[in-house]
Amino acid sequence: MTDCIFCKIVSGDIQGNIVYRDEQTTAFRDINPAAPTHILIVPNKHIDSVNMLIVDDEPLIGHMFTTAKNIAAQEGIAENGYRLIINTNADAGQTVFHIHLHLLGGAPMKNPMG
Ligand code: 5GP
Ligand code: ZN
Repeated sequence: MTDCIFCKIVSGDIQGNIVYRDEQTTAFRDINPAAPTHILIVPNKHIDSVNMLIVDDEPLIGHMFTTAKNIAAQEGIAENGYRLIINTNADAGQTVFHIHLHLLGGAPMKNPMG
């Protein structure tokens, strides 16, 4: 996707504060952090949202969660805890239409789930 900001971070076309990458995923710090640690884990291939997932994507989505777990440990927030969020479409406030897993932690969460 040529006009997708997260595809451009994955490809290196624009600067991202990348904390981890492998063949399937890239993880980078959110530009507008909502917590002391706020990292986005994205698939390297473009998928608009959870609504566009297919069965073949299941290993990839599982890998995103394992990646999040490893990064939480790397960031030193695994023990105290963290929150993983995927927003889908308008009611959830999705603003970037390249699926991404938010990893939030580093302080007790204040906001309610909904
Ligand atoms: P959403 O609201 O779609 O779930 O989350 C999109 C997230 O992407 C937001 O937290 C926003 O701060 C972050 N974001 C938007 N543009 C950029 C960017 O260019 N670089 C980085 N690192 N994060 C971005
Ligand atoms: Zn994309």
